[in-house]
Amino acid sequence: MLERLFSLGYSRTFAERYYELWGERALRIAEAMERPLPRCFRVNTLRITLQELTKLLNRKGFQFKRVPWAREGFCLTREPFSITSTPEYLSGLLYIQEASSMYPPVALEPKPGEVIADMAAAPGGKTSYLAQLMENKGLIYAFDVGEERLKETRLNLSRLGVINTVLIHGSALHIDELGVEFDGILLDAPCTGSGTIHKNPERKANRTMEDVKFCQGLQMKLLEKGLEVLKKGGTLVYSTCSLEPEENEFVIQWVLDNFDVELLPLRYGEPALRKPFGVELSEEIEKARRFYPDKHGTSGFFVAKLRKL
Ligand code: SAM
Repeated sequence: MLERLFSLGYSRTFAERYYELWGERALRIAEAMERPLPRCFRVNTLRITLQELTKLLNRKGFQFKRVPWAREGFCLTREPFSITSTPEYLSGLLYIQEASSMYPPVALEPKPGEVIADMAAAPGGKTSYLAQLMENKGLIYAFDVGEERLKETRLNLSRLGVINTVLIHGSALHIDELGVEFDGILLDAPCTGSGTIHKNPERKANRTMEDVKFCQGLQMKLLEKGLEVLKKGGTLVYSTCSLEPEENEFVIQWVLDNFDVELLPLRYGEPALRKPFGVELSEEIEKARRFYPDKHGTSGFFVAKLRKL
């Protein structure tokens, strides 16, 4: 079994870790990540209704099935030609988005008129979904440190007709300097990306435990800042596309142990790991959720929803 993971290109460290976490399933997860993900898209209801767009695409021969956790999300089952060359795509009636990525904005449940922060926004996939759920009303402060990625974000938001978002080129570690209290916060954290091997196969071999530790440190600092500027009673959704418990369950357990917060239940995905590497975590950690390539046909993904008490 470990031999198979090595032959797929995984380093010894990560192959052994995955075997310890998931046993034989580790191979099924790894094999699923060798296959390309289905192409999924989100209907941009700022510009068109679900019914109208699905009709237009069906007429051109596209077929798709619903994403269970996102009302506006669909995955293509028949793509007669690239959907990105359609006028529908080019005029911003839809956004190409991986299915698991659609869940954090849905889980945050932002309302029109609220003040929301997106602490790591580029290229804007989740920001634009937040804007859509808010009907372009209220305000989103969207941070990112990547200059090129922010240019792409600006183009995406403008193509999609998002007008309630302020883009900030800077670290969300300085979010407190805005002097704003937020109704809701999305932290789609920078991470090692080990759940996205489909797109980045080199990560099987070149990631190290130092990378995991580095990301964990940044994730904890960002969470601490986010909780500082969140209103009491406000909600923070934390997500990563990492498989590593150090970037997921351990970070959330640290928050539960050190801040006045509670985890809120989420309906989709599998319960988070209760005892990763033999470390027993709080029972409520299972309210956080994982999406798996072998079961959900998505990237490896983690989502937790916190309320500040
Ligand atoms: N939420 C985005 C989306 O759905 O399109 C994807 C975000 S990606 C997982 C993480 C982002 O965090 C990267 O774009 C990276 O540039 C950004 N980042 C890294 N450190 C940051 C920091 N200190 N403050 C804000 N953004 C940061």
